[in-house]
Amino acid sequence: MLIRSAIGALSGSGEHARLSIFIFHRVLPQPDPLFPAEMDTVRFDRAMGWISSWFNVLPLHEAVGRLARGELPRRAAAITFDDGYADNLLYATPILRRHGLHATFFIASGYLDGGRMWNDTIIESVRNATVAELDAEWLGAGVMPLQGTGQKSAAIHRLIPAIKHLPGPARADAVARVEASCGATLPGDLMLTSGQLRELLGAGMGVGAHTVSHPILARLASEDARREIATSRDALEGLLGERVGLFAYPNGKPGADYLPEHVDMVRSMGFDAAVSTAWGASDRTSDPFQLRRFTPWDEGRWRYGARLVRNLASPSP
Ligand SMILES: [Zn+2]
Repeated sequence: MLIRSAIGALSGSGEHARLSIFIFHRVLPQPDPLFPAEMDTVRFDRAMGWISSWFNVLPLHEAVGRLARGELPRRAAAITFDDGYADNLLYATPILRRHGLHATFFIASGYLDGGRMWNDTIIESVRNATVAELDAEWLGAGVMPLQGTGQKSAAIHRLIPAIKHLPGPARADAVARVEASCGATLPGDLMLTSGQLRELLGAGMGVGAHTVSHPILARLASEDARREIATSRDALEGLLGERVGLFAYPNGKPGADYLPEHVDMVRSMGFDAAVSTAWGASDRTSDPFQLRRFTPWDEGRWRYGARLVRNLASPSP
């Protein structure tokens, strides 16, 4: 009751409304020993119970329109997922439906139907490695033993930051080299298929664009950035037979992952709104093409609630 009141005090209705938008990525069927903090069905179910008792959760496309018109209810929120993991349909959607909640799924269209994001190739290569150690001296990461969960986890946490900031082609080469060195068989079903994406929509959920290959837009030539954004929208609209009006910037940090020119691009392409990963909440003065999002992470009800209250208490841009 206390958390709900605090949220209500910071998130009024109409002209004074503030919209909280939550981001999730994966919901695993059971905890992953390599990533003990990753969201699983038990945690997600618990979090959705809290969120549904504290907030008025709206479909994001509806919330965006009502924010602009000054018609949001008190304690307004929307739920989003990024990237397009198959577990979003298999495990998250049944939980969302049980709680009567809507979510919008931002899909990197190039990974549908058997694709894999580069970081997952690293993770799954190390997880399923058939070698006892990985020589990544060429990456400045040394020779890493790969026996047991602790060593594998340490290797992943060294490899990903070392590879993350390489320019596109160098990153692809580095990922391919790690994959080849590990000799693992990799899963081809991490991301949604086209059929599963249609099922998400059929389950009443929303779909937004998230580029084709999830590049850092700020590092691309303008025409390439434009093509990534437009092609993902066209592909999703083609698959779903429905207009796609929402966009999420890959990685999403303003000024680092995307720049003002990309905001202008998205606006001029006729999208209704776009979301970043800058923390905070949005109000009527916020740029609808840079709506803020937040991921709470605490385990307990009070801490989780306090985190959401603190996020709402931060000033709108
Ligand atoms: Zn993403």
